[in-house]
Amino acid sequence: MTALFNGTRRRFLQLGLTAVACGIATPAFAVPHIKGARTLDFHNLHTDERLHVTYWKDGSYDRAALSKINRILRDHYSGDVYPMNVRLMDLLYDLQHRVKNDRPIEIVSGYRSPKTNMMLASYSDGVAKNSYHTKGMAIDIRMHGTPLNKIHNVALDMRRGGVGYYPDSQFVHVDVGPLRRW
Ligand SMILES: [Zn+2]
Repeated sequence: MTALFNGTRRRFLQLGLTAVACGIATPAFAVPHIKGARTLDFHNLHTDERLHVTYWKDGSYDRAALSKINRILRDHYSGDVYPMNVRLMDLLYDLQHRVKNDRPIEIVSGYRSPKTNMMLASYSDGVAKNSYHTKGMAIDIRMHGTPLNKIHNVALDMRRGGVGYYPDSQFVHVDVGPLRRW
């Protein structure tokens, strides 16, 4: 990637724009003046709320859009809203494109307050005590029209963090913590 920085600024910008036009994932370093937009669609299965939102545009994250995302991903037991990790939003955006499904991402579980997580962990072996859900870094999802095992396989291929497969409950867990699978 260092080769990118050795060229002229003009060349750098051209490369950045080409990357966007081709739909190649943005590199991890900050790219100035990059053009484009990232939109997400959500359907919260517990509250039946829906959200269509452009959360990133021309190189920056939109605060107002992110707070709408934080709201729809809130702990629906306690009502607690938490700032969700933007890397998780980028993961969802890329995942949705890779599975080529433009229908809403169905939210089974987003943010969980430590209290809610403890309550759920006491009922189910599938809930970790120190879950990334309590850090705004995890989400459990499904997508209408895409088989669950496809979401699972694509998420594993992306290698962005933890991926858990729950076919009995019909959801895939993804998080932006360390690389793990279960
Ligand atoms: Zn989960």
